[in-house]
Amino acid sequence: MKDRDLARVYLDHGATTPVHPEVLNAMIEVYKGYQGNPSSLHETGLVAAEYLEASRETIATVMGTEPGNIVFTGSGTEADNMAIQGVILATEDEVGKQHVITSSIEHPAVLSTCKFLERKGIDVTFLPVNEEGIVDPVEMQEAITPRTVLISIMHANNEIGTVQPIEEMSKISRDAGVIFHTDAVQSFGKIPLPLDGNGVHLLSASAHKIYGPKGVGLLYMANGGMEGDGKPWIKPILHGGGHEHGLRPATENTPGIAGFAKAAEIAFTTMESEMARERDLRDMLIDRVLEEIPESHLNGHRTKRLPNNANFSFKGVEGESLLMRLSMAGYDVSTGSACSSKSNAISHVLEAIGLPGSLAQGSLRVTIGRSTTKSMLKDFTMELEKCIGDLRAMSPLWEEK
Ligand code: PLP
Repeated sequence: MKDRDLARVYLDHGATTPVHPEVLNAMIEVYKGYQGNPSSLHETGLVAAEYLEASRETIATVMGTEPGNIVFTGSGTEADNMAIQGVILATEDEVGKQHVITSSIEHPAVLSTCKFLERKGIDVTFLPVNEEGIVDPVEMQEAITPRTVLISIMHANNEIGTVQPIEEMSKISRDAGVIFHTDAVQSFGKIPLPLDGNGVHLLSASAHKIYGPKGVGLLYMANGGMEGDGKPWIKPILHGGGHEHGLRPATENTPGIAGFAKAAEIAFTTMESEMARERDLRDMLIDRVLEEIPESHLNGHRTKRLPNNANFSFKGVEGESLLMRLSMAGYDVSTGSACSSKSNAISHVLEAIGLPGSLAQGSLRVTIGRSTTKSMLKDFTMELEKCIGDLRAMSPLWEEK
């Protein structure tokens, strides 16, 4: 591995977060002392199982639910696949072809899964969003047909941070007798979850977005994932042993899950103060950028957005070039979503909100986190202004204006 300069200002918490020291300690405790397989019947296995169940209990408690409603997975992507493909498998006997409703701005973990189902002959409706990136609940209701078996709408968007009216949509879905899933990978531990009353049936989350380890996720299933009559909402998409209520075969990643539990405990117990702190920083950043940098544009809703997300477009500037300049100056940010930032394609999210190509090319996502301070953002804004000035000075597109 190259010896790199690590003294950087990290403003890409939407891509992933550094592991919290207490999370690391929780994982080391399990790694060092209890190497058992939680399915083994001997003492070492029983201790590992105790760690696993204690972690499940911690996460359930901070989420305000029961441990039996939590299935651990290997990632947020896997939880999304389990929910979506799992509902299709559980409803394959239903008369007529199944129909799924989702939105056009989902993360690829949902979008590609739905496109895969479409290729297999399942009907999928990809709902549009308005220019602020919000799905219209009425349009969603109108898309429901007697064949609809699943609605999957993300809680908060990973690129532009928009928070959807999930409570309203899950109520409509429940009233229509349709399973509602939400991808809450970006919102989990950052804003309150839509679980109460008429809340979602299924919800995906991932540890590495909340200062936990990479490669650990969960699928929340209300009511243990079944109707009152015991009919399961999902069937497993992987086949193997009977782990995780028979829904997710594979030896559980006990140390990683213990880290996830510690990360969730910290995130949920400090949510209110951290949410307010990050929201203030975000608003300060947005105000400064829009005021100080000419021809700058905020993508997404001004207030209905994640407390840590700001996404801008700058006329006459190419996003990749801006990212590289900022990176050379010591700032880590992203353009488009992290997962697709190595491709030059215009983000499907920016396209869905109707952003003209010239602005979509010049987009920049800044996602703040626990270590971000006001002075960091002030310095960042000055550097951003300088980089944009330099790039515009070299851009024939900008001179033409
Ligand atoms: N869903 C959303 C909204 C995300 O932002 C991400 C990751 O960026 C995922 C799903 C995938 O999660 P994971 O990286 O744990 O597979």
